[in-house]
Amino acid sequence: MTPDAVTGLLALDRRHVWHPYAPMPGERAPLVVTSAAGVRIRLAAPFEGRPELIDGMASWWAVIHGYAHPALDAAARDQLARVSHVMFGGLTHEPAVRLATRLAALAPGDLEHVFLCDSGSVAVEVALKMCLQYWRSRGRPERHRVLTWRGGYHGDTLHAMSVCDPDGGMHGLWHDILPRQVFADTPPGGFDDPVDPAYTARLAALVERHADRLAAVIVEPVVQGAGGMRFHHPGYVRELRRITEEADVLLVLDEIATGFGRTGEFLAADHARVTPDVLCLGKALTGGYLSLAATLCTPEVARGISAGETPVLAHGPTFMGNPLACAVANASLDLLEGGAWRHDVRRVGSGLRDGLAAASDLPGVRDVRVLGAIGVVQLDHPVDVPAATRAAAREGVWLRPFRDLVYAMPPYVCTPEDIAAVTRAMTAAAKAG
Ligand SMILES: *Cc1c(COP(=O)(O)O)cnc(C)c1O
Repeated sequence: MTPDAVTGLLALDRRHVWHPYAPMPGERAPLVVTSAAGVRIRLAAPFEGRPELIDGMASWWAVIHGYAHPALDAAARDQLARVSHVMFGGLTHEPAVRLATRLAALAPGDLEHVFLCDSGSVAVEVALKMCLQYWRSRGRPERHRVLTWRGGYHGDTLHAMSVCDPDGGMHGLWHDILPRQVFADTPPGGFDDPVDPAYTARLAALVERHADRLAAVIVEPVVQGAGGMRFHHPGYVRELRRITEEADVLLVLDEIATGFGRTGEFLAADHARVTPDVLCLGKALTGGYLSLAATLCTPEVARGISAGETPVLAHGPTFMGNPLACAVANASLDLLEGGAWRHDVRRVGSGLRDGLAAASDLPGVRDVRVLGAIGVVQLDHPVDVPAATRAAAREGVWLRPFRDLVYAMPPYVCTPEDIAAVTRAMTAAAKAG
């Protein structure tokens, strides 16, 4: 693109296009992307002297296999020649049936019923609706509250917002109009730190105290993402399963960020060997190609809903089960099926660990942590986002820090050299921010 064309595009962008978590008109000009291949995004105009950047964010957890992957491209093209979309009410198709069957097989336990929807937030809405309706159908409509631990993030729609972190989160503005949920403390941090029995005792007491009103507990297992990039011991998830079973409360695990290998296991719940009653998947489901998410539930939940006065789950997004998205998701699962992702995630993780080893000694750095293919540098102050973004770009890497966090969850296909660039960029961003 010519410099004039870029300027013109940005002027129209500022005038007409709303960006995530941004005011209108936008405050800062975004970078214009013209294409992407492998782990690199190409820019219309060089930024800090760089015509292309390694995507350290994998487009928010999604692009696990890299951009323009031949197998995913081919799957999309092949499906495009058949049918790219058709309504799901009264109709079905092979890509959706195949995908649902495979997700049911990959999920733990008896999570065998699959609701395909169009985004993670909707998957969370569907999960909560399933739980609320389960109790309503069983004659217990007063069981409509949800318990979660603080520090979580579950999406931006209204019921999803109600279970996000009420304080540090992005949705504090709405606390007076959202459904009032029950909040436990954030589980103590550290993947390797043993479970604190005093914490689990308090958690159990809280669930017990509210059980008569609770439909479900919803949490992100092992890794809390957009709520603060915290890791906790899988034992807390195991304890939560025990506690919810004893209190007869449903357990929803939101694996929209953690699913498909990101934490080193296929699902984060696999670290804990736990089967929830409802499971949410999204983000990397299509390898970052198209918007698709899924909510899985057990026969017990489905039976409970079906036994009610209104036996249907009244939810049906227009683009439910989109064939194009399902076909690409199937191709992404093909790539994961061989299990090579495990080795890739380990390689990315050890590269992050090595490259960030010295970062904890930097002034202003509070904590450095790595789990699976996720690296986090937490500062003791809010990041200067523009300065940190520029510093990362000078190292040839795209990062998008927020709050006090400089973090990366790169595509699994990054080479050791790519990851070395990512950790150099994180270090530079932490120094600049
Ligand atoms: C991103 C995310 C969501 C919301 O997904 P969208 O596709 O952005 O609506 C929900 N839960 C978790 C854990 C997420 O990381």
